[in-house]
Amino acid sequence: MKRQLTCIICPIGCCLTAELDENGEVLNVTGNTCGRGKAYAESECTHPVRTLTTTMRVSGGTEPLVSIKSDMPLPKELLLPCMEKINRLQVAAPVQIGDILFRNIENTGIDLVATGNVKKDQTCG
Ligand code: SF4
Repeated sequence: MKRQLTCIICPIGCCLTAELDENGEVLNVTGNTCGRGKAYAESECTHPVRTLTTTMRVSGGTEPLVSIKSDMPLPKELLLPCMEKINRLQVAAPVQIGDILFRNIENTGIDLVATGNVKKDQTCG
């Protein structure tokens, strides 16, 4: 079986073809310009992962939301449960880029990190 993929590792976006055996193991990858594309195709076919980028609610801040990302790529099947968890979370201002806002999401060992700043709203009591 062959699977067509577009490499998302860099902006070139090479068209990859992964050849899989009957167990879903990758036998061969073609179309990649570099080794990172081969590694991406192998990962995508056997254990796809994505870096989660989204926002988290902020209380007492000058902005209601702060942008966040996972500090490592998460298994693709955990993205939805993680989003459901994040939607129930709220962090108190101030928030600074690099702050760890939640540790070990869904017991993955992966943390959620702020990618934006939100100041404390001085007009709030
Ligand atoms: S195979 Fe290499 S050059 Fe091609 S898109 Fe992927 S990372 Fe970029």
